[in-house]
Parts: sequence; structure tokens; C-alpha cells
Amino acid sequence: MAAAVWRLVLLAVLALSVVARRSSADTYESKFGLCSRSVNDDDDDEYYPYNTKAGPVAGKLNVHFVAHTHDDVGWLKTVDQYYVGSNNSIQFAAVQYIIGSVVDSLLKNPDRKFIYVEQAFFQRWWRVQTKQLQKKVKKLVESGQLEFINGGWCMHDEATTHYVDMIDQTTLGHRYIKKQFDVVPRIGWQIDPFGHSAVQAYLLGAEVGFDAVFFGRADYQDKLKRQQTRSLEFIWRGSSSLGSSAQIFGGLLAHHYSAPEEFRFDLRSTSPLIQDDPLLYDYNVEERVELLVQLAQEQAKQIRTNHIMWTMGEDFSYEYAETWFQQMDKLIHYVNKDGRVNILYSTPSIYLDAKHAANETWPLKEDDFFPYADCPHCYWTGYFTSRPSLKRYVRKLSGVLLAARQLEFIVGKNESGPNTDALEDAMAIVQHHDGVSGTERQHVADDYAKRLSIGAAEAADVINTALTRLVSGNKPSSAESLKFELCFHLNVSYCPPSEADLSGEKTLVLVAYNSLAWSRQEMIRIPVTSSSVTVTDSDGHPIPSQIVPLSSTARLLREKHLRSHGGVKSGEGSLHYLVFEASVPPLGYRTFHIRPSVPGALQSAQLSSVEEYSAGAGHVQLESRGALVQVSRETGRIQKMKNMKTGVIADVEQSYCWYNASDGNTFENQGQASGAYIFRPNTSTCFPVESPNGAVQLKVIRGPLVEEVHQTFSHWISQVVRLYNDADHAEIEFTIGPIPINDGLGKEVVTKLSSNFSSDGEFYTDSNGRDFLKRVRNYRSDWTLNVTEEVAGNYYPLNLGIYLSDKDKDFSVLVDRAVGGASLKDGELEVMLHRRLLIDDGRGVSDILNETVCTGEPEVCEGLTVQGVYYLQASSKTEAPKWRRSYGQEILSPLQLSFTVLESAKENVGPALEFSLVASDYSLPPNVALITLQELEDDEILFRLAHLYQVGEDKTLSAVASVDTQALFGKRRIDKIEELTLTANQKKSDVEPLKWTVEGEENLLHPKRGRKHDKHEVLVELAPMEIRTFVATFKD
Ligand SMILES: [Zn+2]
Repeated sequence: MAAAVWRLVLLAVLALSVVARRSSADTYESKFGLCSRSVNDDDDDEYYPYNTKAGPVAGKLNVHFVAHTHDDVGWLKTVDQYYVGSNNSIQFAAVQYIIGSVVDSLLKNPDRKFIYVEQAFFQRWWRVQTKQLQKKVKKLVESGQLEFINGGWCMHDEATTHYVDMIDQTTLGHRYIKKQFDVVPRIGWQIDPFGHSAVQAYLLGAEVGFDAVFFGRADYQDKLKRQQTRSLEFIWRGSSSLGSSAQIFGGLLAHHYSAPEEFRFDLRSTSPLIQDDPLLYDYNVEERVELLVQLAQEQAKQIRTNHIMWTMGEDFSYEYAETWFQQMDKLIHYVNKDGRVNILYSTPSIYLDAKHAANETWPLKEDDFFPYADCPHCYWTGYFTSRPSLKRYVRKLSGVLLAARQLEFIVGKNESGPNTDALEDAMAIVQHHDGVSGTERQHVADDYAKRLSIGAAEAADVINTALTRLVSGNKPSSAESLKFELCFHLNVSYCPPSEADLSGEKTLVLVAYNSLAWSRQEMIRIPVTSSSVTVTDSDGHPIPSQIVPLSSTARLLREKHLRSHGGVKSGEGSLHYLVFEASVPPLGYRTFHIRPSVPGALQSAQLSSVEEYSAGAGHVQLESRGALVQVSRETGRIQKMKNMKTGVIADVEQSYCWYNASDGNTFENQGQASGAYIFRPNTSTCFPVESPNGAVQLKVIRGPLVEEVHQTFSHWISQVVRLYNDADHAEIEFTIGPIPINDGLGKEVVTKLSSNFSSDGEFYTDSNGRDFLKRVRNYRSDWTLNVTEEVAGNYYPLNLGIYLSDKDKDFSVLVDRAVGGASLKDGELEVMLHRRLLIDDGRGVSDILNETVCTGEPEVCEGLTVQGVYYLQASSKTEAPKWRRSYGQEILSPLQLSFTVLESAKENVGPALEFSLVASDYSLPPNVALITLQELEDDEILFRLAHLYQVGEDKTLSAVASVDTQALFGKRRIDKIEELTLTANQKKSDVEPLKWTVEGEENLLHPKRGRKHDKHEVLVELAPMEIRTFVATFKD
């Protein structure tokens, strides 16, 4: 055929096909009611023939489409890799494109809505957008198309986080949102964390001003019952003290946090798309409409009111947002046309308002949702302890951040640095539910640690610079010559300035900063190389001190770590600990001088006596003014404790043992292995750790300030039992690792404390370091528990501690980091301290929790050794709460020790050897803590006061407390203080909580609250467990 003829034929075919398309579009419109929106007039937007305008419709079942993406702030990839979209061989995920693509899609259709959660990502994106796009995004936020939900830096974990860190990370996000968009998030969105805490509900929920909190995970037995009783949604009162005054609407999502399986529309999803073009094959509109209506009606049977939510999203979904929005546009259009149910673009706020408007009554939920199990042998209680070193690092830096922020306020923040911003950011990121939880890949854990370390170095600069300025009386010349230094490696007995050779006229100067707003007496323990030293306080008076030998384990640990830093030195045999008691004023410091002295001089540090015992009959006894501890010579175990202050005696047996982590491969195990998330022992037996020849060598150290027993249970577990002279508790410093795995068995190591107390199945564990909640072995208050895992199913997260009671006495353990704990027998407590596993537990991380440390040249790698401390007390029921609360604060906020060495006796550090911000005759009441003191922009100071006691916890300290804020700030004259909600993004007085009707409740009790605050008042009242947040401005 000639070319010309070809061309003619082709033209004719094209003309026909245009006609065909037009006519099919007409039928299409009439058949399915496609609307002729104005967008149809614009050829570019021809795609838009769908009516997506729906709002809630009374009398119909409303399906709220909540379009969302769940973006982990680190998990399989690091936070930056997730943001950028790099390292895609691990996981396809690129948050920068998700946010960009969602914004584009929202701009295309004003009916579409989306929620965004993690500010760590959003802020990374926002700061590199053009002004024009920022303007458009602001409009999307203003119109409600884009809504910030949760709004913290990350979606924090709820088991292994401390409430102060949770508040900090949420505040960071909320203040950005307020500043950039002038909006306040209304809804908590904790969709992925593995169990939910009481503190999350009442503190990080109600007290933030949230109207609701939604989440995706609850125990499978609990969820089933809630489905059957239409109790997936409820009124949650997490605090027994604050009750209905801090309640929140709670919602357990129906489909985890995903869309129903058949309606997932990511690029890589396999759900059938809505094919509504009759000219193409596989047209399926009726079929898709039918299925959606069916699923919605099924779901509605489990839910009160005629509003249900569909969470339209997944992990890192919406990278190409149109795939979701186009499908949702079609669904809304066709299903609403069908008319049996009504779908709308919604957000959790719109959904909640619809629930509220329905005037329904709701079931009541108290306490928390721990532990979480997703099947009979799958208790997510392993992560309470996973990565114990990271957990400790986070807790330690929480104390550093608190102190650094205070000093930043005292001397004035340096905006251009060094400042605390980097540590604030790193701490906020690591609170993520795959961060401090320990459920991230190894390289991600390393990334968190690196960020923390960079932030900590800068915060240390802040502390050192501030202390130099304060001590030297702000003399620039001294500030230049003095170089104060913090020691971050005291846990491995390493501190270069304190180890300085103090020969001649040299003086070691130590400034101890107290971030508590009470004065405190505390033993300081630092490594020194000379045993002939004298310690003087800031008045120049010599104070008692003691030289204590390092345990052999401490020495080994130190050498191992120094080797990895290339700093191993020979002849370190002369290293000792110097112990002395420091008395430090509130929010202030005291300076101590350590100088060489003549051996044996009266004021010189006293050498400890050392006794060594091999196995034998009887016991050795440590004794102080506060307590007495007996250690069996036969077993090496603690066998008795006596509290000298209260007279309470406890027969205690302290031991170490390990659970054999299930490998999931046997029939009996039904496929579930122990892993980063899950704790699944192979049997309920905890195998004892004994020394190879059955005998434990004891080394007993005695002296005027401290007595210690050093003992080694095996080549991988040793401990020091320490009794300071005034303390009525014992300190147990444990060193565990490398956990041997050459027998092919994963191990989960616990310390068991068996007492003769009758606890009747009951024990108490804290919620995020705040309220103590009652636990009952093999029991749940919300449903009849079918016990399938008698060990793992009784584990609870600890951040402050665990205790049990016997009539008028308590046996308590306080911890130095997040760990898991349980009481599996009456009188017995156990705490899991370390885990090393050989198999992944199949919950997504696909990485084996087998932490190793590589040191030396050539590099040698071995399992991680964990060192830490827990604290043990037997006391009366009336005294124990005081110890748990006050000492708990000291553990959380340790003294920050800053060192410098003066070369000659002529030098001095300055005139101001002592300082306290607080007025000289004032200290916070013993039941109140200052948990935040932070300089914000515009000379505003953020501070928070926390009542430390629950209702009924202590006879006198559970009363309403009153704080004189002017005295707290000493010489700084307060201009005004204004009360804000917990995350400091709105005035407290502007918050009007929604009212709800609780099933069966006739008379609502009104829990106690501190008196309403007026901005010119300096007195602030706090009711039990109340935290109040203020912004202050000062006259000077
Ligand atoms: Zn997640």
C-alpha cells in the first residue's frame, strides 16, 4: 500500500476512536452519576469526574477514610536514610517524596485530607521548601486538608521511655507546629507502639490537651473481647489520682493501622484497583462497592455509633500519593452513589467530633495495655530489656540534658552554640518506638548512639562552660585558663582529669552540680591514681573520704574499653576509687578540692581494709548506719537484709539465672522464637548461673564511708554489693557478658530476688517512671486471662522500679534504665538485665539481637558486656514510698561532675565555689520535683513542676503541695508566669475537655487539682500526680 493511503486509513481510525470515547464517557456519567465538577472544564484535570465532597451523614453508616503514612523515625534504616530514601536495598522508603507527593495530591482536590505525624521528618522536609510551597502548605493546614496528629518529634515508645523524655520529645514537635502553623494537635496517634501505658493516656494525652488517643495494638484476647462487647472505644482514665480530670477517649483501631487488606493502594500493593472504564477489561465497580459495604457493615457491628474509621495507609506509604487518592476518590464516589453507606475524607478529629456528637455511653478503661501479645506464645515483653546499653545511655543523657538546660538558663543560652539543641534532637529521635525500645537494626542503633554522643559532647560543653563562668565569677581571664571537663566514662572507671598524677602542688578540682531543686547528700566515687589525698569542701574544710580498690571486673572492663580507644596504659595497677560525701545545694553546685597528702595524715583519705573469703560455712556481713546485708559464704548470695532505720528484716536470696530463649523450631514451641520484641523462654526454668567449682570467692572491702562485697559468679557475671554509710538500701553493681552462646542457646539473663514476704500474687510496677500500677500474677482486670506463657506473660516494663508488699512492709527494687520485671512467685521479684539471641522473632526487624563489641588491633569481637546498677531496699510500708520517690529522683538526675586540674598551689578556680539558684532559705517541698527548666526563644523560660506522689501513697506527702516559684528562682525577679498545657503550645485556660458519658457511672467524682493559677501569683499548688507547665518571664 502506498504511503498516502496508509495515512488516510490511520486518520479515519483515529476519528472513530475519538467518537467512541466521547459516547462511552456519556454513558459512564449517566450510569455512575459522575459529577460534572468545574474541574471537568479544565482539560488538564479531566481525571476529576468524581464526587468526593461527602461529609458525615446522619442516619447512615459513615466510613471515615483517614489517609495516613506511618513513618518510623529509624528502624530498618536510619532516620536520615528513611527521609532521603537511600539504602533502598533494605527497604523502599523515602519520606521526602511521601510528604511532597501528598502535598501535590491534596492541592489537586480540596476534598482530600491527610494526617501527618512525625515532626522529625516533617521538619526535615519543611526547611528545604520554597516560600511559595510553604505558603500553599500553610493553606492546606488552615483548611484542615492537612492535619498534624500526635505531633511529637517521633511516635515514642510507651514501655521503655521515661515520662520526662516523652514530654520533651512531644514538646519539641508541638512547638514547631505552633510556631510555623499556629495550630495545636488535638489527637494522640500511637498506632504502632507495642503496648500502651497509663502515662500515655492521662499525661501525654489528656494533660497535653488531646481529645483522644488512637492505637493499633492490644493483647489479642483483650481485643477479641472488646470486639464482642463493642468496647474497642472507651473512656480511658490512666491515673488513679487524677481520675476523670485527666481522662481521654481511647480507640483501638479495627484493622491494626492499615487499610483492610483488599483496599490497600500503594504502588506495590496487590489489592484490586477500582477499574471503572467499561472500555477496558476487568471492569469491577459493583464488585468493589459490594465488598467495601460488606466490610464496613461487619466492622460496624463492633463499634458504637454509626461512625467507623478506616486507616488508609501503611508503613511509609503514599510515596506516590495519587495511587491512594485516586482510588479513594473513586470509592467515595461509587459507594456514596450506591447509598448504603457513606464514605468521607476524614481525620481522627472529624471522626472524634462525630463520636462526641452521637451522645453515646462508653465503657471505662483504667490502668494500661501491658503486656501486649499478638498470639498465645507471643508476648512482646523482650523489648523491655533489648539493647540494655542503649537504654542506659538514653537514661543517662536524660539527666545530662536536664542539667545542661538548667545551666543554659542560669548563664543564658548561646543560640549559635554550644547549646543543648543537638542533644534535645537526638534524645527526641531515640524515643521512637523502634529506638530506645531496642527493636531496630544494629546499624540504626549505632546511628542513634552516634547522634546521642554528638549531642552529649555539645551539652557537656554547655555544662563545663557554664560552670567555669559561674565558678570564676564570670572573669573572662579565668574562664580562658580553666578547662572543666565532664567524665562520661565513669561507668568503666575512666576519667582522665581525676586520674591526673597529683604529685607536687597539683590540685584536682571537682564541681558537683545538682539538678534537683532539693539539697542532697550523696557519695561521689571517682577513679584516682594516688591513695594519699585529702578532700576539702568549698569552705576549705577537710571532709571524710575513703580509698576503695577497684573490683577485678571493673579493672578488666576499663582495660577492654581503653584498648578500643587506643588509650591503654600500662601500670594502671595504682588506680583506686576515691569516695567522699558531697552535700550540694538545690539547682546549684559545690566545689571540692582533692590534694596530695602525707600518707597516714589525719585528714587523708582512709584506706579500706580488704578481706578475702573462699567458700565456707556462715556468712559475711556488711553493715552501715542505714542497713545490714548478709552474704552467704556457701553460695555467695545475699541472704538477709535489715533496714536499721525501720527495723524491717527480710530474708532475701539474690541470684542470677538465665532463660533459654526459644528458637521456635520445635513443635512444642509452635514456631515462635524469642527475639528483639518477643520474650519466649523455651521452658519456665531459669537456669542458675553458678561459678564453675560451685563456690563464689568473696572480697570484702570495709571503711568509714562504704562497705562492699566483690564477687564473681561465673566468667560472665560478677557484681559488687555496696552499702554506703547512711543509706538504708544496697546498691548492686552488676557486670554481665559476654553472654556465652557457644552452646548454641540464646540466653535472657535475670536477677532473681526471693524474699520471705507474702505478696499474694500482687506486685507493683511503674508507668514510664511515674505512677505505680498494681499487677496481679496471671491476671488481667479487663478480661479472664487464658495463661499461655507463665513467665513472659507476667513481665511488665520498669523505668523506676518494682516492689511487693507484705502487710506493713515493702520490698523494692529501683533500676537505672528501662528493663523488664516480674513477680513469678510470692515474695519474689525478678528483673531481666541482658539478652543475647540467635534467632529473629519474625516481627519485622529481621535482625538477630546479638550485640557485639569489637575492640583492639587486630580487632576482636565479642558479645556485649553490660554494666549497671540496681537498688534494693526492705522497709516499712510508711517509709518505702519516700525512698522510692526521693531516691528515684536522684537516680534519674545524678550529680553532674566536672573536673579540672590546677598545676600549682597559687592557682585557684575562682571566688564562687558554691552556688544555688534557689533562695537560700528555700527548697522545693519533698513531694515536688522540677522536671523542666529550659530557656525558650524571646527570653521566655519554660518550667514544669511535678507532684511525685499518688493519692494514698504516703500519709503526709500525698497531700496538695505548694511551691513558691519566686523563691525557686532566687534572685531572678519573676515578671509573670503563665500556665500552659503539658507541651507548652496553648494556654491551660483555653482548653475545654470534651465531656463523655461513662457506662454505669452516675455520680462523677471530682479528683483534686491544684488551685487555678493567676499569672501574677508566685505560689503554685499541685495535687497528687499533677504536673503543671509554666512559661515565665523575668524582670531582669
Ligand atoms: Zn512503627
